Amino acid sequence: MLKLTFLGTSAGVPTKQRNVTALAIECMNPHSSGVQQGSRQQNNQSKKSRPWVLIDCGEGTQQQLLHTKLSLHQLAAICITHVHGDHCYGLPGLLASAAMSGRREPLTLIAPKAIATLLDAIIVTTELYLPFALNFVAIEEVLAEQGDTNKVNISLSDQHQLDIDITPLSHRVASHAFGITQTISRRILNTDKLVADGIPASALWGKLQQGEDVTTEGNRQLRSVDYVDNEIQRTRVVVAGDNDTPNLLSKAVINADLLVHEATYTHEVLTKIHAKNPDYDPMHSSAHVVGTFAQKMNLKNIILTHFSARYQGFDNPNSKTPNMAHIRLDAESVYEGNLWLAADFDQYMVDGAIESASNQEGSQKDNCVQYIGSARSD
Ligand SMILES: [Zn+2]
Ligand SMILES: [Zn+2]
Repeated sequence: MLKLTFLGTSAGVPTKQRNVTALAIECMNPHSSGVQQGSRQQNNQSKKSRPWVLIDCGEGTQQQLLHTKLSLHQLAAICITHVHGDHCYGLPGLLASAAMSGRREPLTLIAPKAIATLLDAIIVTTELYLPFALNFVAIEEVLAEQGDTNKVNISLSDQHQLDIDITPLSHRVASHAFGITQTISRRILNTDKLVADGIPASALWGKLQQGEDVTTEGNRQLRSVDYVDNEIQRTRVVVAGDNDTPNLLSKAVINADLLVHEATYTHEVLTKIHAKNPDYDPMHSSAHVVGTFAQKMNLKNIILTHFSARYQGFDNPNSKTPNMAHIRLDAESVYEGNLWLAADFDQYMVDGAIESASNQEGSQKDNCVQYIGSARSD
């Protein structure tokens, strides 16, 4: 389960209602505490053990975080899609604040090489000291590797993994999408079968659940595979940076539960911008072009974000003032799936399919993406 919190949804410049781009993705593991014995009961994961990933870090992102319950101590990785300031100018300040708040755990930073140059310059010129290791992963180097290795694995625990893969996009500078795949595995002990086979609850049950074959006091050999079902839940979200060609994501969105993509303008406005100044192409998407792609790929869920400051937050199709209704209708004219337009502090829960030996197809949930309210706690 991945919980998304939009920290900034404006393009280029902030507005009173929207900050520039940043998105927090919390990695929820409902089974992270307590031994499961066949029950599907969900334990509440303690907040402390909820690592999260930050995608892009526009200026003021740390200020936005103050209005949420997210802590820089739980931040596992930062991914920067591209070097434009509305996606990265908040990075030095956020890292400095993490240092001042006593963070000591290493932090992974996946970003274009130029971001390392930017940080090095700031570290030298402002005498910034980071008391934690910054594990810098250059996107260019990840993409240069061949095959299945062009993803970054972040191990959160034995049974909780995060894979981040990268897809190059089309924009005025090199821009990228991050595919975030969370895998939660757990072994479910078939207690009904154990009882039916006359094996009473004992420490042996725990060993079987851990994958060990055991011998009972009565000298019976029990194989773990006969009593344990391995269940895997995969949740995949694709978050695109600035991009004028959603078709580049055709491969990345296969099996994705959700696509988060920019929709800076409506088709009409984008056409006018192109006509007015043929020498300058902002290389952004309209809601229409993202909707067309999502419909073609049969995507069930998309969230649009990164709206031009000209669009007001209200939803009124009859208003002459550009507003969310115009973006929404632009996408809805071509897309029939679930569509949301992000606002700052909006939270969504994404709950991927569960596969097990008895259900190898995986059970895709109809409503695997749900809007759950605002993260703003004040
Ligand atoms: Zn941007
Ligand atoms: Zn950009």
